[in-house]
Amino acid sequence: MKRIAVLTSGGDAPGMNAAIRAVVRNGIYRGLKVYGIRKGFSGLLNEDFVEMDLRSVADIIHRGGTILQTARCEEFKTEEGLHKGTEILRRRGIDGLVVIGGDGSFRGALALTRRGVPAVGVPGTIDNDIPGTDLTIGFDTAVNNAIQAVDKIRDTATSHERTFVIEVMGRRAGDIALAAGLAVGAETILIPEEPYSIDEVVDRLKKSVARGKRHSILLVAEGVGQATDIAAEIRSRTGWETRVTVLGHLQRGGSPTAVDRVLASRMGAMAVDLLLEGQSGKMVALQRNALVAVDLDEAMKGTHRPDLGLYTLARILSI
Ligand code: ADP
Repeated sequence: MKRIAVLTSGGDAPGMNAAIRAVVRNGIYRGLKVYGIRKGFSGLLNEDFVEMDLRSVADIIHRGGTILQTARCEEFKTEEGLHKGTEILRRRGIDGLVVIGGDGSFRGALALTRRGVPAVGVPGTIDNDIPGTDLTIGFDTAVNNAIQAVDKIRDTATSHERTFVIEVMGRRAGDIALAAGLAVGAETILIPEEPYSIDEVVDRLKKSVARGKRHSILLVAEGVGQATDIAAEIRSRTGWETRVTVLGHLQRGGSPTAVDRVLASRMGAMAVDLLLEGQSGKMVALQRNALVAVDLDEAMKGTHRPDLGLYTLARILSI
């Protein structure tokens, strides 16, 4: 193995830069030439390659987003696209590829591996929705961003005795809502993995008001539905002033937390080590705080489940 390449694909996540840095620096440390591919698989098809040196990843560990940029590329999902990508990597003498992204990106990585280009995945997504790993790069920062925003909203909620329905990201997963909800002491957390009844939600709200709470915060995962609809239901059943905030892309940007920087550094470095060991079709995963290699295939076939113990605990602690 002499030359490897790295790309970021799918949604951006804070910590991706720290992962790129780790791939480049560990690769060079181990005597490899390392190329960056800009804009994900679309950059691969457009041959947007750049040779990386130690300095090209200087001063990025603390920056959100991804210096290699990211893109979605429909062409890469086709036979022709995959064939073209494989040929480009072969012609350029790339012996291994590190794909930093989510499950969609891993499908591309696995398809390349099956065509003879060894590829390893590094889980980078704020949603934490990848089976096989306890944590993905970007999740911790997104949760912290959500917490900071909710803490600010709480000041207004308390001052005005209002109910706030706050929608957080997560695609189909409730992980961000669960972790942020527990951390801010939300009265109610709604996640797609747990069915809820609006009657019970309203009942809990009324009880908390009856025992003197001056505000209520409901954290709703985007996978549950629109926060505006839930707020309208609460308003119509209680007559209370109910405000909605959709945190949106605020959660996704900004400087990565220590947890994400350390995780990304460890995972990026391990991806290079795996390629050097001759492993491919693997994803670097965190399980019980140890890094392990799991089959990309398994990671994609499995179903992600958030830690529902947090859900139960949050309900107990917010009585
Ligand atoms: P994420 O990686 O965050 O889940 P997407 O699902 O949008 O994001 O996937 C990112 C990119 O990965 C897609 O735009 C496409 O280029 C590539 N990809 C997704 N699915 C496949 C597939 N089945 N085969 C090949 N490439 C794929």
